[in-house]
Amino acid sequence: MSRIVVKVGSNVITRRDGMPDVTNMSSLVDQIATLRGLGHEIILVSSGAVACGRGAIRPSRMLDSVAARQLYSSIGQIRLINLYDSLFAGYGLVVGQVLTQKENFSSRTSYLNQRACMVTMLENGVVPIVNENDTASLTELMFTDNDELSGLIAAMMDADILIILSNVDGIYTGSPADSSSRLIERVAPGEDVSGNVVASKSGFGRGGMGTKCGIAGKLSDEGVAVIIARGDRRGVLVDLVEAPDKVPHTLFEPNPEPLSTVKRWIAHSAAFAKGCVRVNDRAAEALRSDRAVSLLPVGVISTEGEWEEGDIVTVFGPGGECVGVGRASLSSAETATAIGCRGARPVIHYDYLYIEQ
Ligand code: GLU
Repeated sequence: MSRIVVKVGSNVITRRDGMPDVTNMSSLVDQIATLRGLGHEIILVSSGAVACGRGAIRPSRMLDSVAARQLYSSIGQIRLINLYDSLFAGYGLVVGQVLTQKENFSSRTSYLNQRACMVTMLENGVVPIVNENDTASLTELMFTDNDELSGLIAAMMDADILIILSNVDGIYTGSPADSSSRLIERVAPGEDVSGNVVASKSGFGRGGMGTKCGIAGKLSDEGVAVIIARGDRRGVLVDLVEAPDKVPHTLFEPNPEPLSTVKRWIAHSAAFAKGCVRVNDRAAEALRSDRAVSLLPVGVISTEGEWEEGDIVTVFGPGGECVGVGRASLSSAETATAIGCRGARPVIHYDYLYIEQ
């Protein structure tokens, strides 16, 4: 049995006119029900609120992008979830709605609270359907897109597989429209294929292949298998899980040494860092080695920002390159006093330090 997070983009489940694509949604629900019947746990991350809302109302005056997103999502999310609810009910399955925002991932307490909620849903056989709380999210603190959200959810829920359903078969060696481009079928842990991605974004969604690639690389490195595939292929979901050779896709192979749950949270927390420490060459090299190394004050050159013990801080090398991110065990004031000291307590303990690959 696997725990699988499935992410569907607006383009897979809404028609060109902005109305829900009931045919694609029904097929998706049918496949999720089949996977549930085979014993898998499924969490659905579904976009489409804004797109569905846009098809349902014509605003009385020109709206700026924030007001438009709020208006459309307030209407569209209800339609989306109602449709899912009735489609899943046809298979005897109960769905629950999880609307979240980036702040919910910023502190360990709210992170664990959100996790506990979804664990309870799964224990009770409920299919969680997750989306960003688009009516309340602040523009500057939004998820890049639901690909980012699905990555956070997959990491938080210790998923075995994240399946991102898109409108192409996966990552190509060039533009998917170009006949000389080839589908990349497997990406090894740590391999960077982002150079192949042609910057383009389709239709209603906010995301693009660039973000998908970045998220897939990061998650697979943490130990979660990530699959990018085309969402409107018949039976795609069930095939990807039960007979993957039958369907074209890109698989980002999981790192055989998965990160601990707390390191996964830290890995995705850089956006909430309260400050940063700059370290010298020797420290940067030691942190990047295969050894379990904590960040000690002796390796620190300088600090920036103010933080308390337990806050997230980023670690930069002497040239300004990001080395990693961690949960501080010293405040910024304590760190500043201890700079260069030998034998002092760690600034970040190894167990709470995530090193960028
Ligand atoms: N949360 C947005 C919606 O439901 C979609 C964001 C995205 O396109 O990834 O419309």
